[in-house]
Amino acid sequence: MLKTVRKIIRQSNHIVFLTGLGSVVECGGRDLWDSDLFYSIEKEYKMCPEQLLSAGEFSSRKERFYEFYKKEVLTYLPKPDETYEIMKFLEDEERLQSVVSFNIFGLEKLAGIHNLVEVAGSVYDNYCPKCLKTFDVPYLLASRSIPECDECKKALRPNIRLLGERVDNDLYTKAAIECYKADTIIVLGADLGSSKVQYVTGHYKGENLILFSKEEKYGDRFADYAFYGSIKENLKKAVL
Ligand SMILES: [Zn+2]
Repeated sequence: MLKTVRKIIRQSNHIVFLTGLGSVVECGGRDLWDSDLFYSIEKEYKMCPEQLLSAGEFSSRKERFYEFYKKEVLTYLPKPDETYEIMKFLEDEERLQSVVSFNIFGLEKLAGIHNLVEVAGSVYDNYCPKCLKTFDVPYLLASRSIPECDECKKALRPNIRLLGERVDNDLYTKAAIECYKADTIIVLGADLGSSKVQYVTGHYKGENLILFSKEEKYGDRFADYAFYGSIKENLKKAVL
């Protein structure tokens, strides 16, 4: 199967990658839904990560939102590994059409990838809702409690989709169009059974939906080819 997939990738000129939390975890990122971490957070904050990162929490209890967000999310930001270098390599070779990221960790941008749709937003994009001035992560981390705009003193907003907020239709449409135009789709550690991923992959017309994942999931039946284990190692074997 690896031989077939190597051939498919070698012959593809419009590759679209979909990146999920699986590829982020390999880069040292945290999966807040991993059971051990999930329970320790729930114990400490008396709330689950989803509630702590919800729109309701952000609008009514900003102080606690930012306490959690800075301590548990921004303090543990991952760095891109070889997986992202491979995507960048394919972009430089003009065979990568784009990357659709379903996570908030902005690893693609850090790796220098330009053709990118971040459907869930990015922790690196923070802005003032009044004047739209942007702020970086060190600015947020240096703030004592709620980070504020240095000009209008408004509480900053991280540009990530919070639970309870509507999805960004424009971004999802863009992601769906990318999949429609793709000759090959490579999914890295994202759940093919999730409705958001399905909305996007549903527009794909080809027969080369390739999945790289740490372990099997029920939604994997939507993939034409699936490889399990280290995403980075398997991707290297398939591409390089
Ligand atoms: Zn402002």
